[in-house]
Amino acid sequence: MSSRTSWLGPGMTRRLLTAVAAGAAAELAALGLIGAAAWLITRAAEQPPLAALSVAIVAVRAFATSRGVFRYAERLAGHDVALRAQATTREKLYRALIPSGPLGHRGADLLSRMVDDTDAVQDLLVRCLLPAVAALVSAVAALTAAAFLLPAAALALLAGLLVAGLLLPTVTAAAARRWSARLAPARAELAARVADLVHGSADLAANGAGDQALTAAAEADERLAALERRQARANAAALALGTLAQGLTAAAIVLLAQRSGVGQVATAVLALTALVSFEPVLPLAAAGERSAGVTAALRRLGEIRATPPAVPEPSEPASPPRAPLTVEVDDLVVRHAPGRAPALDGVSLRLTPGKRVAVVGPSGAGKSTLLSALMRTTGFESGTIRINGVDVRELSPDDVRASITGLTQDPYVFRASLRDNLRLAGPEAGDEELAGAVRRARLSGWVERTGWDAMLGEDGRTVSGGQLQRLALARALLHDPEVLVLDEPAEALDGGTADALMADLLDATHGRTTLLVTHRLHGLEGVDEIIVLEGGRVVQRGHHDELVTVPGYYRDLWESEALTTAG
Ligand code: ADP
Repeated sequence: MSSRTSWLGPGMTRRLLTAVAAGAAAELAALGLIGAAAWLITRAAEQPPLAALSVAIVAVRAFATSRGVFRYAERLAGHDVALRAQATTREKLYRALIPSGPLGHRGADLLSRMVDDTDAVQDLLVRCLLPAVAALVSAVAALTAAAFLLPAAALALLAGLLVAGLLLPTVTAAAARRWSARLAPARAELAARVADLVHGSADLAANGAGDQALTAAAEADERLAALERRQARANAAALALGTLAQGLTAAAIVLLAQRSGVGQVATAVLALTALVSFEPVLPLAAAGERSAGVTAALRRLGEIRATPPAVPEPSEPASPPRAPLTVEVDDLVVRHAPGRAPALDGVSLRLTPGKRVAVVGPSGAGKSTLLSALMRTTGFESGTIRINGVDVRELSPDDVRASITGLTQDPYVFRASLRDNLRLAGPEAGDEELAGAVRRARLSGWVERTGWDAMLGEDGRTVSGGQLQRLALARALLHDPEVLVLDEPAEALDGGTADALMADLLDATHGRTTLLVTHRLHGLEGVDEIIVLEGGRVVQRGHHDELVTVPGYYRDLWESEALTTAG
């Protein structure tokens, strides 16, 4: 139960219990109503004095009214709790996913969980748990009443209820597994559609283009839903078989009652009570079909939920920072896990409007950690980060990321035209603006050769590492954040291509608040400050001209780079 209740937010367990109790009470009222009504009608046919019927008349009224009230309460509380649980689940999943940054190959799987699996929470409550409890209560009450009147009838009823409530749901659950094989191709199509969305999650987030990509995924989702509707029709056939079992059971009970001579009144009460006791049992066939998927979906969601959010949202976030932005980092300490050495240890830096700062250092020095802390995808242990004087812990992490963003470490090419690949960073951008960004990213030649409408991405035209970085740079320039972050733009490029890219990139970022993480020093003469990180600490800082004159990491790297270029 603990894994289930963990999907419920505060106060939801009480709501769920209310729904269960109301559902059970509604079924009991329905049974009471039919029993009392059957007794009343058949007894009235015997024309007794009116006083002999008065209790039954009151009972019928009471059951009829209370059934409606209980049913209403059950629907209200049940759907309330289910929708709340689903909303809580989605929110918790997003919160668990967003700060984790690029999802890489895990992304496709994670996204399909977001699309399909969160429905399982609602289904579990509304279509499985509540109906099962209601059916059980109703069946036990009807069997008890029948056993009291005629044990043989109770046995017939038990047989019928077992067929409809146990056998059919088991069969539909097995059929559901077979159906999943037919649904697989449709799911694969959906997965292909959302692959762009998934692999490019970091770029989408960085460029604010999530909605557009989500629409394409939603359409594929609709096609899958059409197939699922066919599956639903097959399940309706199972439901019809349940109805057949219901009719046969009632007929058998009438025969048994007549043979046993319990009288007309008892026969009517038995037969009608039996009929009604099937009503909550019949939907269990559909619940059986769903339960197989629900269990698997909940298990998958549990795995994601196990990841705690890296950065908590403040309870009352301060209003988003307004341009121009000054970002001040003071004595920042970041530790990725308790007990581990800090990844950043006492780092300070100041980004004023228009200032360009480069962060260099060996692998594992803490460069990416610094960017994550600034973009609020990683929390920090001590020190402060202030934007225009406001502590970032008082700001919503989303607001921080809206202002401090740019070129992520693994830019993604979407399966779309070159134009659309750029436009995701600026949906409103006209051709002029697109061409401007392409020009500043020094990509015009390639774009002219390739054509604005050429398809890129999976199955499309291949894009080289350098072109990919320039495409991402053009996107970042179009998106135009207050603080442009460039994370290792020249990584994985060969020396000449890397130097050319760095030179163009530094050209394009002139006058723009920029934080550049790089392992190539070529061109850094132009930036305002260079910070050298080693083992999470700032070991050197200053202008290029100063740093090359003193012994240390910077000068060593500069000299080895110069040697390689010369060689
Ligand atoms: P750089 O970007 O300079 O290569 P990183 O910021 O990626 O360095 O890493 C700094 C240190 O923090 C390294 O020791 C690295 O192993 C560790 N680290 C980075 N990210 C994580 C993480 N998500 N969980 C645990 N340790 C991490």
